[in-house]
Amino acid sequence: MAEERYDLVVIGGGPGGYVAAIRAAQLGMKTVCVDRRGVLGGTCLNVGCIPSKALLRSSELYEEARRGFAAHGIRAAAVELDLAAMMKRKDRVVADLTKGIAFLLKKNEVAALAGYGEIKGPDTVAVALNGGGSRRLAADRILIATGSEAAALPGIEIDEQRIVSSTGGLELAAVPERLVVIGGGYIGLELGSVWRRLGAQVTVVELLDRIVPGMDGELGRELHKVLRRQGMAFELSTRVNAARAGVDGVELELEPAGGGAARTLEADVVLVAVGRRPFTDGLGLEAVGVERDPQGRIAVDSAFRTNVAGIHAIGDVVAGPMLAHKASEEGIVCVEMMAGQAGHVDHGLVPGVVYTWPEAAAVGRTEEQLQEAGIAYRAGRFPFAANSRARVNGFTQGFTKILADAATDRVLGVHIIGPDAGTMIHEAVSVLAFGGSAEDIARTSHAHPTLAEGMMEAALGVAGRSIHI
Ligand code: FAD
Repeated sequence: MAEERYDLVVIGGGPGGYVAAIRAAQLGMKTVCVDRRGVLGGTCLNVGCIPSKALLRSSELYEEARRGFAAHGIRAAAVELDLAAMMKRKDRVVADLTKGIAFLLKKNEVAALAGYGEIKGPDTVAVALNGGGSRRLAADRILIATGSEAAALPGIEIDEQRIVSSTGGLELAAVPERLVVIGGGYIGLELGSVWRRLGAQVTVVELLDRIVPGMDGELGRELHKVLRRQGMAFELSTRVNAARAGVDGVELELEPAGGGAARTLEADVVLVAVGRRPFTDGLGLEAVGVERDPQGRIAVDSAFRTNVAGIHAIGDVVAGPMLAHKASEEGIVCVEMMAGQAGHVDHGLVPGVVYTWPEAAAVGRTEEQLQEAGIAYRAGRFPFAANSRARVNGFTQGFTKILADAATDRVLGVHIIGPDAGTMIHEAVSVLAFGGSAEDIARTSHAHPTLAEGMMEAALGVAGRSIHI
């Protein structure tokens, strides 16, 4: 097997790996990016962020045409669903974007290899090529960006037909009459929203007593209320003990989380969305001695170095929020630090967005976290019902909430549920990153009429001087 030499071998071509590879090439490193999938973009582009958002958008339009148009004086009598065409569009969006990444790697002179990478030593990666045969890559440095896979539930076998993971949940050939989603996190709520809008009766079963457990409690309660009003059913504080697929559907066995009598629930399709776990199968970590943390993630320091010199790791496979933009940011900082530059990733400044309708978005600390840490804060809230643009658009649910230090007014957390929250949150991310205050936001000119004025009003609310409520 001939050996090729690289400055950097990146294993994994997701938003962590391919972005790191491009940045490394920009910095002058001879780089190769290896991915077993055969197409670049990782989970995010192929079976995650992008196909889910494509279906969210299409299903939003469908629901809007069926239920929302009339209020605007638009009659659309015969709105019909063509699920096959909707799926085709989603696949086209994914294909175009993954091709775009292949182009970007080429443009930056990053070599791309389709195959399974195994670390043979701190400076050697063997690649079993998808097309047969193998390659041996010698590397000054190795970057692990192998991402994550859907977590399983004991007693539940995923067949991707009747009992599906998020991957199968993006590919259903027909709208199920009854869809049960196990897990009230963002993936379950987003895919649940898609299928509810397309006509399924959706029940979300969640072990905890609330949905989106990592988010601010008030935000989670509001999202729960809004989704319930849209027709999504919830079984909170409920454990799923088993799910058995038969010819006619799936029978789930449920039990109260605190103990009690078990009962059954029938579904046509069950979506298991109980989180994700780091993926390191067949990577050779044990042989080379790379350590993991107690949660099974690869342990790294603030420069993303593992305990083995020359081997680094970023993205879903290491600690921190399992999000595409976090993986990319880590990839960039990691290779810049390899090149001798200064760098730092603050997980406290990574925004999280749930792309339901309305969206829920957050950055920084929640009220619960501030209370637990004993930090005195002031909260400013502004409802979208009092925002003129929200009224114009006809979407008035939700609010913006700003949490600021009671003594210094420094913004500590921002939580938005409402139309376009995922775009609005970025003003808050910048303010937090610059250590700004609520007054900074309040005294910043916000164009009228925009949803962003809600941010300004919430900031005014921190000092008890909102104008429009
Ligand atoms: P990945 O994207 O998982 O990429 C890792 C790649 O490495 C994969 O292609 C894998 O095949 C490859 N690989 C693994 N092992 C090997 C090996 N030994 N050799 C070769 N290749 C290997 N995040 C967001 O920020 N926004 C969203 O809206 C969002 N929506 C999501 C929706 C769904 C349904 C799902 C499942 C996830 C979503 N995510 C979202 C999460 C996001 O996809 C991940 O956080 C992100 O993809 C992580 O990037 P990564 O580069 O670390 O890993």
